[in-house]
Amino acid sequence: MTSYPASFCPDCGTGLVDRAVDGRERRFCEACERVVWHNPAPCAGVAVVGAEGVLLAQRDVAPGRGRWGVPGGHLEADEPAPVAAARELEEETGVRVDADALSLLDCFHASNGDGKYVVSVGYVVHADRCAGTATVRDEVQAVGRFTPETLAASDAVLWADHVERFHAAWDWFRSGP
Ligand SMILES: [Zn+2]
Repeated sequence: MTSYPASFCPDCGTGLVDRAVDGRERRFCEACERVVWHNPAPCAGVAVVGAEGVLLAQRDVAPGRGRWGVPGGHLEADEPAPVAAARELEEETGVRVDADALSLLDCFHASNGDGKYVVSVGYVVHADRCAGTATVRDEVQAVGRFTPETLAASDAVLWADHVERFHAAWDWFRSGP
């Protein structure tokens, strides 16, 4: 499987053709006699939330470079989603949390319009259950905590995919986890 539509077989390098399989046109390798499936990439993130707001990171990578979002990223092949979310949180912000402390928050499906789709699983955790001071680490330009009010009063612009996740995390905190 590939996350972008494939032109060549990942196994043998043969140029792929279109073939109708299971009611859709698929990329097909005639040498291997198999479909090269085009599937979404699984991602996970975690919103750390406390009285100061939701911990957000300003992205320093495409897509959405310069926009603010909930820390997160791709799952490793053998990695459960909560473990990936905790790992990405630490890689991007230095904040550490036990994957077992995370609660499921949301799930969205998104595309950048370039043929790649992601399914992102969102978790949430109270800031009291985390360790470490939020600092700028990998693939981010800045980190900060925002409530809807402080976000609106700032220059920060949310990555469109993360607007609902940000508000869901704040609502989770306000309603008393
Ligand atoms: Zn092949």
